[in-house]
Amino acid sequence: MSEVRRGARDACVCAICGSMIDGDSEDFFSAPPVAFPDLVAAPAGDDISFHMSCYSSWPNREPFARQVLEHWRRESHDNPYWVEISGGTDYLLHANPDSPVVEAALVLAVSGRDIRIKIRDWEKWLATGPSADGLADFEVEALHTVARTLSEKFPTRAHVLEAARSKMSAPQKKSPRPRGGRRLTT
Ligand SMILES: [Zn+2]
Repeated sequence: MSEVRRGARDACVCAICGSMIDGDSEDFFSAPPVAFPDLVAAPAGDDISFHMSCYSSWPNREPFARQVLEHWRRESHDNPYWVEISGGTDYLLHANPDSPVVEAALVLAVSGRDIRIKIRDWEKWLATGPSADGLADFEVEALHTVARTLSEKFPTRAHVLEAARSKMSAPQKKSPRPRGGRRLTT
């Protein structure tokens, strides 16, 4: 997910300004390689990375983020281990209820950021508020709104697990294609 790879070969360039990203000192955002016009090309198959400052003020951020969200929606649909349990105009929530993963993955529509939450920590996450580490202000704001929605829909981890298991047994998940990408593999 959000990770700048090290070393000369894998050095990351910002897809908007074309300058190098110093992952030690600069906030950045990485997205899966979705097709989008007018970006500085990353090596084929690599994530697309941005300085957070460039991404925050980019006029195409929301259309790009929608592409990213749809990418994760397809990944979940194609992946037998993950299932979409909730979604709206402002977020998408997947879950993998089975051991050893037992995680939820929340994608924010405002940025395309995906945030992993251990399902065992679900109530704590709702109660204490999501960590804002590395997030831009506009993401923090969106995240708090989404967290309020989720606390109504899924007040406990049992609700998350139940939703995931019932979706998993739904007909469209019975014949999954094998694998669906990197993040949602397990
Ligand atoms: Zn930049």
